Amino acid sequence: MPIETPTIGAAQIRLLEKLCKAVGVSGGESEVRKIVLNEIKSHVDEVRVDAMGNVLATKKGRGAKRLRVMLDAHMDEVGFMLVADEGEGIYRFKIIGGIDPRNLAGKPVVIGKDHTPGVIGAKPIHLTTADERKKSLAEDALRVDLGPESKIKVGERGTFAPNFQRVGPSVMSKSLDNRLAVAALIELVKHSYSNIDLCAAFTVQEEIGLRGAKVAAQYFKPDLAIVIDATPSNDLPMQFEGENTFYNTKLGLGPAIYVSNSSTIDDPRLVRFMQAVAEKAQIPYQIRQPGGGGTDAGSIQRAGIGVSVVSISVPHRYTHSAMSVSRVEDWKNTIALLHTAIGQITPALLRR
Ligand SMILES: [Zn+2]
Repeated sequence: MPIETPTIGAAQIRLLEKLCKAVGVSGGESEVRKIVLNEIKSHVDEVRVDAMGNVLATKKGRGAKRLRVMLDAHMDEVGFMLVADEGEGIYRFKIIGGIDPRNLAGKPVVIGKDHTPGVIGAKPIHLTTADERKKSLAEDALRVDLGPESKIKVGERGTFAPNFQRVGPSVMSKSLDNRLAVAALIELVKHSYSNIDLCAAFTVQEEIGLRGAKVAAQYFKPDLAIVIDATPSNDLPMQFEGENTFYNTKLGLGPAIYVSNSSTIDDPRLVRFMQAVAEKAQIPYQIRQPGGGGTDAGSIQRAGIGVSVVSISVPHRYTHSAMSVSRVEDWKNTIALLHTAIGQITPALLRR
């Protein structure tokens, strides 16, 4: 029986929007977790939330020889934590995960479970000197302003204010890293694969050191893992003199297959397999330029006695900023590639 291909239409985009509007700064992923549980619970054999907050779902295949395949997408996003109340609704904060402090000044933010609105203020141009305007502002020179009636306590987390929008072929939003992948994994879980045992991990605390994925891999003990994430595109035309050879990925060229990054050398068998599947099915793909950065694969690969891993990412511009940009087609093709590839996994794939 042929496996039904996931259709990505208005309903899936609405789910992506809902996921992007949720706030899930590392260690406080409950809003995202709630959406995930609600979406997948009737499609899996077993689902649990572990002590760290990972959502771990299993769906058994049929047939004698099947691999345990872990699919991973982290639920958390970058943000900050309020660390000192300076009165009048002004708070000092510390960044959680990687945010360039230059991306913070002048941005609307939301804090705490009620999404209390505020702003990271910036000194107006009228009052700055020419010299000041040449320098970027460090994290400790910036403050969150919640207004004088704020009852928010130190220790609360916050992030950029939700701002999802569809613009032509693009989606623009905060936290496309990694809600694009969370939405993709939800779609993959909703389809059945008889050839494998599917172990879906929606993980916590990736942005602060791949922490949730470590215990998720210990729990599942998979034979192989495919990590789904969003990876930066550095593809603006005016950034380089001559040819841009530092693009990392480019928008519109399809899912990015990893070969290696700062924490992982992807299993070459899986890299070749993903490429072969894409070519045969005529799904566009690109090789992410080997280099820095990383995904949950860094933790999963070194769990237990080791796990074969490969990462597949949706390219997007302006990663970890108030608003990133991705192409709907790249996201759809990522889901199509993963779905087609998963349906073709057999134990022979890992034979040496
Ligand atoms: Zn990510």
